[in-house]
Amino acid sequence: MSDFFSKRLSGLKPYVPGEQPKNIRNLVKLNTNENPFPPSPEAVKAGKAALKKLNLYSDPDASALKKAIADSLNAGRENVAVFNGSDEALAFFFAGFCDDGAVINDITYGFYKVFARFYGVETTVVPLKEDFTVSVEDYADKKGTVFIANPNAPTGIALGTESIAALSLQNPARLVVVDEAYVDFGAESAVKILKDRPNVAVVRTFSKSRSLAGGRLGFVISSEEIIADLEKVRNSFNPYNVNSVTLAMGEAAIKDRKYFEMTRQTVIKNRAVLTAGLEKLGFKVLDSRANFIFASPPDKDGKRFYSSLRERGVLVRYWDEGRLSAFCRITVGDEKAVGTLIACAEEIYGR
Ligand SMILES: *Cc1c(COP(=O)(O)O)cnc(C)c1O
Repeated sequence: MSDFFSKRLSGLKPYVPGEQPKNIRNLVKLNTNENPFPPSPEAVKAGKAALKKLNLYSDPDASALKKAIADSLNAGRENVAVFNGSDEALAFFFAGFCDDGAVINDITYGFYKVFARFYGVETTVVPLKEDFTVSVEDYADKKGTVFIANPNAPTGIALGTESIAALSLQNPARLVVVDEAYVDFGAESAVKILKDRPNVAVVRTFSKSRSLAGGRLGFVISSEEIIADLEKVRNSFNPYNVNSVTLAMGEAAIKDRKYFEMTRQTVIKNRAVLTAGLEKLGFKVLDSRANFIFASPPDKDGKRFYSSLRERGVLVRYWDEGRLSAFCRITVGDEKAVGTLIACAEEIYGR
């Protein structure tokens, strides 16, 4: 550390993303929940056209993209704000909406804690139940903005909309931020309760179900007032937060419903094949509504599974942390990757 760095920030523990190896030629990469499909061809075409206008700043209002998102969700443009990845949206919620602190689960998206520390937000941690489901009752007396990933990461388990409504009804003066990064892979969205629940905001990303992780694009859908507040934060930080190539690609990706349906249905199908294949070998696999599964091998040694897969050129995610250490998180890849994963598991654990 230099002599010049802020004392307040010197204790930061940054988020550690899944490994992005340089030489991926011989690796099966199932560790960061990327979509196995490339972006929609329509999106690629739109991105290429936008390249020629990179001499100009991007639209700071993201008008066309907001309209496309709003139309797809039956909302108004004033109910949508767009961000440089949903991580940026989440950061702005921690920066601007957490005067009373934050409330998160003990097992959830690792970035929440990092943002909380970065912005000096006091955080209450609510443990998941033994079976990794969320204990909604335990939130009743907790103060602060609730951040809930639904489906949760890294478990993949989804909460029903009635539980999100219950969380918001426990205290109408408390904001509930629902991170729906994986919702398109089979979970119920809280978007449909937004009109009745003004203390709910939904965060979405193009990184997973729209195959645009490298484009960095996310959005929030919520009340006009919450969106206006978020825009105040965004415009105090970086009004050109989303580049024009990504704006164009996002708009085209939203409009290409057919490609979206084809790719997400394929991932859902592959998830079932992967789950069944591992269960046959004695794995315990949590009920996932995401584009990954959280699986525990027969000997409950997540680390051994992780290392044995790595030796075979297959990269998954492992956390050496309490009850997570019995599991590995495996991204649902294409058919070939699913086959490779199952074949490796057979080799490691026998038939
Ligand atoms: C991937 C992911 C994000 C981050 O998405 P970006 O839009 O790529 O920043 C947010 N929340 C959860 C739970 C995720 O898994």
